[in-house]
Amino acid sequence: MMTKVARAARAEADGLAPLFEKCYRFEDAERVRRTGFYSFFRVIESAQDPEVSIGGRRMIMLGSNNYLGLTNDPRVKEAAIEAIRRYGSGCAGSRFLNGTLDLHVRLEQRLAEFMRQEAAVTFSTGFQVNLGAISCLVGKGDTVYLDKQDHACIIDGARLSFGEVKKFKHNDPSDLRRQMRNDNEARGRLVVVDGVFSMEGDVSPLPEIVSVAKEFAAGVMVDDAHGIGVLGATGRGTAEHFGLEHEVDLIMGTFSKSMASVGGFIAGNATVIDYIKHRARPLIFSAAPPPASAAAALATVEIMDREPERRERLWQNTRFFAEGLRSLGFDTGQSQTPVVPIVVGEDLTALRLVHRLQQEGVFVNCVLSPATPPGRALIRTSLMATHTTEQLARALDAFERVGREVGLVKAVGV
Ligand code: PMP
Repeated sequence: MMTKVARAARAEADGLAPLFEKCYRFEDAERVRRTGFYSFFRVIESAQDPEVSIGGRRMIMLGSNNYLGLTNDPRVKEAAIEAIRRYGSGCAGSRFLNGTLDLHVRLEQRLAEFMRQEAAVTFSTGFQVNLGAISCLVGKGDTVYLDKQDHACIIDGARLSFGEVKKFKHNDPSDLRRQMRNDNEARGRLVVVDGVFSMEGDVSPLPEIVSVAKEFAAGVMVDDAHGIGVLGATGRGTAEHFGLEHEVDLIMGTFSKSMASVGGFIAGNATVIDYIKHRARPLIFSAAPPPASAAAALATVEIMDREPERRERLWQNTRFFAEGLRSLGFDTGQSQTPVVPIVVGEDLTALRLVHRLQQEGVFVNCVLSPATPPGRALIRTSLMATHTTEQLARALDAFERVGREVGLVKAVGV
């Protein structure tokens, strides 16, 4: 272990200002590397298909957000290629000034229609949607209420706002009510929840959240990054699932999951969307979604509408795999969706499990704090519509073998 002085000396020897000393002091990643189980930034040499190639080896991919299996779909790829041919590779500016294409406008109209909302606006990532929309809507004197497990970009969007930020207990509408009751000061109120929570795949109790919000005249915004294309009778997401499409004020979505691309959008009341278009800094001061990304996303909207069988297949796969894990004795938490966690507890066990599964030909993700509460390390698995039952059965066999080794699955007869 280097001393503080030695670290400062090294930073200085490398010609760096004292500010960078913290980089030399940073040990979290090194500590994990030393265990031999480091499994972040893994390099994939193929498309996000049900099987991927890593180091020349085929792996069953159970760690992708490609829920509908569309990222390598020939029609989606052709739409992206055609958009590059027509519009080139980039927009060279923000939507606000020179970067708005007729393609963006068509995509926004189609998204508004798909989400059954008046209007929609697209951003270059989903992360930017939350940063921009929340920070511009929540002004001085307003309060934004967040579920404690809300995604990092919701929290960052709230931090960037000039309003108060309050967090309520995960999926606990009565805690939300209690906090709203105690808060007589707030002028405007916004509640922001994930429709489907990204790490554990549990669903927000939206009917109760909406009802509490109404009691206090609060707006409701749902981040449906993991709900769109997955939940609801026609894949419109969590609000459709609960029959609340006209009760929530704003729904944001991303193109980086079911929609097989990159970018994001927010849909809702036309006047509110127009305000966001003129006030959200990550929209105004950042380049527009590239043509290929916008065209790919547009192609997936059409496919989501025309091919409900993809969603059905995704749910069949989810049931098969989640029930398989549970019958092996794994704890899959409160998951109700194609995001299926395995609650492990200790960081080291989770890291070891991911490493061993990779050796057995299965790619899954390790989720440690702060993405999950401390002491609740997880393996996050997620299904695709395009997995075959044979692939999932093979993955379950690997889980059984590895689960025994780390003591999460009891040996037969024990
Ligand atoms: N919200 C949620 C719930 C997410 O899981 C993510 C991405 N992991 C985002 C927003 C950000 O989306 P994007 O990848 O488009 O930036």
